[in-house]
Amino acid sequence: MLRLTPSDRVFILTGAGVSAESGIPTFRGAGGLWRNYRIEEVASPYAWQRDPRLVWEFYSMRRRVAGEAKPNPAHLALARLEQALGDRFFLCTQNVDNLHEQAGAQRVVHMHGELFKSRCDSCNRPPFADSGTYDPPAALPRCDCGGTIRPHICWFGETPFEMERIYDALEGCTLFMAIGTSGVVEPAASFVAYVRHHARAVYVGPEEPSNRSSFSDAYFGKAGELLPTLFEVDGKPLTVGG
Ligand code: NAD
Ligand code: ZN
Repeated sequence: MLRLTPSDRVFILTGAGVSAESGIPTFRGAGGLWRNYRIEEVASPYAWQRDPRLVWEFYSMRRRVAGEAKPNPAHLALARLEQALGDRFFLCTQNVDNLHEQAGAQRVVHMHGELFKSRCDSCNRPPFADSGTYDPPAALPRCDCGGTIRPHICWFGETPFEMERIYDALEGCTLFMAIGTSGVVEPAASFVAYVRHHARAVYVGPEEPSNRSSFSDAYFGKAGELLPTLFEVDGKPLTVGG
């Protein structure tokens, strides 16, 4: 059990593994390819320039898969932890689905964007809610300015969102916990190295991440099985659903 005291400030980083038990495939596990494309081939500015229809076909598929998914006990346990800790809790996710929110999380920082938002690739119009699917031969969605509407996703080669807030929270945390993330996608993979001298660093997932050596502790198993009984907050076990 992981004991949290009133002086703890918790930074949680989640990855695709947290949504795996909800039926959303990870990229690097079995079945991680889409129609024989590697993720980098459909999730990059280069792919968007070369073949925006292929990119929209990929994100339309992902919207359909994520649109059917329901949060699992890992999402529920983290929402419960947020409730118990209030502003001593910071949740940063690399996931673009909305399962943390569906579980009741109030303040999720989506560093890689959100699947159910789109934005214009030309003008400064802010990102907007969009669950549309644009499979070929449908026309590409267009903005009034003439630009093309693209998914509000941080692609490979682009800068993640909200990095200033994220580094502030990393600096202030006493417990850093990475859950279901393979530790290969930067800059998230280096967060643990950034905090290891001032915070406990814990990994949760079924296998060792690539950056394992930077963590002080690891709990090996499925997030949905471990998280609901992992935390003790200010002397009381955290109960999920209670
Ligand atoms: P990844 O695919 O590289 O790694 C997934 C990790 O999850 C692996 O380490 C695996 O061992 C672990 N895992 C598998 N099942 C698990 C379970 N039941 N409980 C806990 N862990 C489990 O994913 P990543 O590190 O998040 O990075 C890849 C990129 O993939 C990110 O940029 C992210 O945006 C994107 N992605 C997002 C989603 C989503 O939004 N749900 C899905 C796939 C990929
Ligand atoms: Zn526009």
